[in-house]
Amino acid sequence: MSFADLGLSDELLRAVAEAGYDEPTPIQRQAIPSVLMMRDLIGIAQTGTGKTASFVLPMIDILAQGRSRARMPRSLILEPTRELAAQVAENFEKYGKHHKLSMALLIGGVSMGDQQKALEKGVDVLIATPGRLMDLFGRGKIMLNDCNLLVIDEADRMLDMGFIPDIEEICSKLPAQRQTLLFSATMPAPIKKLADKFLTSPKTIEVARPATANASIDQRLLKVDARKKKQVLIDRLSGHDVRTAIVFSNRKTTVRDLAKDLKRAGLRAGEIHGDMEQPERIRELDRFKEGEINILVASDVAARGLDIKDVSHVFNYDVPWHPDDYIHRIGRTGRAGKTGIAITLATPADAEAVEAIEKLTGAKIRPVEGPAAPAEPDAAPAPDDAEAPRRGRARGGRQAQDRPAREERPRREPRPPRAERSERGSARREPEEERPRHDERPARPRRPEPEPDEEGWNGPIPSFLGQTLGS
Ligand code: ADP
Ligand code: MG
Repeated sequence: MSFADLGLSDELLRAVAEAGYDEPTPIQRQAIPSVLMMRDLIGIAQTGTGKTASFVLPMIDILAQGRSRARMPRSLILEPTRELAAQVAENFEKYGKHHKLSMALLIGGVSMGDQQKALEKGVDVLIATPGRLMDLFGRGKIMLNDCNLLVIDEADRMLDMGFIPDIEEICSKLPAQRQTLLFSATMPAPIKKLADKFLTSPKTIEVARPATANASIDQRLLKVDARKKKQVLIDRLSGHDVRTAIVFSNRKTTVRDLAKDLKRAGLRAGEIHGDMEQPERIRELDRFKEGEINILVASDVAARGLDIKDVSHVFNYDVPWHPDDYIHRIGRTGRAGKTGIAITLATPADAEAVEAIEKLTGAKIRPVEGPAAPAEPDAAPAPDDAEAPRRGRARGGRQAQDRPAREERPRREPRPPRAERSERGSARREPEEERPRHDERPARPRRPEPEPDEEGWNGPIPSFLGQTLGS
């Protein structure tokens, strides 16, 4: 099936062809016709399956009819982080190049002035993080009465970040007669509830089982002795098959130490974690994308949503405490039709965490041969600077919108056609949190209170801010 079979306009098909897409992904195939028919929709598909275009494309055709009025955006897309918001805006720019649609991006770290000007004039599409939107709404700068199309994207991450109450409030300010689209990689109960409350007889599209890891990822479990873990990792990383690898660790200190040790072992390794300033992270990511280094040691928060093409391996140096982090981590490989290998190093003490992952994904992780595992469980690492955000705090998530991952951020200068992403925008430090004790593992760590971060983004500001698309 081709894009032409989906009922999209010729202009849009041209833009899609120019973007280099040959055929729609399964979620796009199923979602686009329904969205064009103005139906409410729930789209569940794992990360990297092209959910963005599945709403951006039909929205462009829908919005091509009619025009915007001052301060009354015609459609609203909610994103959990500014990086994702910026990425969606870039998608609008790319696919909407033959249309004359206007958009505004309301995210932290970008000056409000230009965005407000754009809003004053009226925009067809408003892309926002919930916190920023609520701020502006509170100041009477924006009216949502004319907003007939709402997209709640990355709903499970919204939940992780404590945005559900904000979203409910935003939903109640939109006209009751509207089209609502909700996209998520997984469908936990609170998201289901949200959908039941705010969507009207939605069509549900489920491309893969929720929380099922991508089938193009070969998942392996390597049982190791805690004391030999580092050496096992070094050996594996030195293998010929490892072209590029992201190595995940649960704690920032481990990320730092491990990166040092890998370098000492002669590997071309870099690091990315929440204690690094934004420019430093971007630099490190660039080195990785450009092949100067081929191993990136990363923490969860720093790596959420990174969309880097051609990562051959993901290593879980530590088994993640949260099973959903496992899905996010291994999803850094096996992207865009490529296959990838995800190797999880597990000590006997990790048995419970591994079980939780297998329960979530509904499949056993395939054990592979490695050095013999010890009989005795290793001691739990000392609590230090665990990077364990998410869940729990409802309201506290307000400022959290700007925390994690940036997904795609195309550069302006020409580059080899690799994925062009950089990392989350914040220059702010990640809050510290204690590692959960083993006997308390079932309880998720409380979400740390992030600091406000209004002007903290020193990353590039998208060129299209507040501008009209197309010619
Ligand atoms: P999701 O939101 O499902 O995680 P994205 O919308 O961010 O995924 O898309 C993931 C990647 O796939 C992006 O790099 C995007 O450019 C690419 N992509 C999307 N649709 C297609 C397509 N039809 N053909 C090829 N690549 C695509
Ligand atoms: Mg997405």
